[in-house]
Amino acid sequence: MSNTTLNTNEIESRASQILKDHGLFSIPVDPVTLANNIGIKVNNAVFSDDNLSGLIAKRGSNISILVNKSDPPYRKRFTIAHELGHHFLHLLSDGEFVDKKVDLFRDTEGGDQSKRTEVQANQFAAALLMPSELVKLEYQRNNDITDLARKFNVSEEAMGYRLQRLRLA
Ligand SMILES: [Zn+2]
Repeated sequence: MSNTTLNTNEIESRASQILKDHGLFSIPVDPVTLANNIGIKVNNAVFSDDNLSGLIAKRGSNISILVNKSDPPYRKRFTIAHELGHHFLHLLSDGEFVDKKVDLFRDTEGGDQSKRTEVQANQFAAALLMPSELVKLEYQRNNDITDLARKFNVSEEAMGYRLQRLRLA
């Protein structure tokens, strides 16, 4: 049911193409608008386990994303983008992904195949919120991380990491 063979570059172009298809290829990217455009409801939730960041559940055409109400705005945006990664890459039939905070930090593979989907969802989230083409363009204008983070509405930590991945920093 999943698309775990996609490599990083394929995930990058997939995320950009999705934004372009929905007329959302401009910063700051709003993952909630993308979700709503494709019929996915996004809601805040109070989880019994506060280590949960979010989840996505698919039952036929009924797909919903829940995010931890107590998480800060940047984290919520990343979580929603991560869950959208599961939607586009992994949830080809009914099912769900439940994500703890630790999953959202994972971006390199440890050889554990079951975590491959989490790495992919994180790569998708970074590519969705910080499309490489737009990051490179903005970086040429002004390479200050604080300003870039603000423009893309992501944390400075996330932007710093993204610049490293794109070999800009
Ligand atoms: Zn996940």
